[in-house]
Amino acid sequence: MPVAPLISKPPLEPPVEIYKDFTFEAAHLLPNVPAGHKCGRLHGHSFLVRLYIAGEVDPHTGWFMDFSELKQIFKPIYDRLDHYYLNDIPGLENPTSENLAIWIWDQLKPGLGALSKVEIRETCTSGCIYRGD
Ligand SMILES: [Zn+2]
Repeated sequence: MPVAPLISKPPLEPPVEIYKDFTFEAAHLLPNVPAGHKCGRLHGHSFLVRLYIAGEVDPHTGWFMDFSELKQIFKPIYDRLDHYYLNDIPGLENPTSENLAIWIWDQLKPGLGALSKVEIRETCTSGCIYRGD
């Protein structure tokens, strides 16, 4: 019985996942925590947002994306968050780290298909990673 020829595919460029960190200051409170929970009181955080994008290394430039391009894409969203009361932002009425990661994903993903993860840290030891649905 003849053997089907192997289909040869062009070699793929090396896949990478790169990230860029952003920090912003904002106030919030969590409206749905049990009575007396400390997160129900108005307070602020120095949030860290780490945006991950995944793709292939361009053989000429040697990178997947210019970090400054990522910064530019994120800027309009960043400007809505920095030094604001997060609960006032439509979609962030319950601004947990989880909901913030999902909200940022939903804002960014339509214009940034390579987005692979959104990471939020609200303290040095607590955070959340969202990889889309
Ligand atoms: Zn908090």
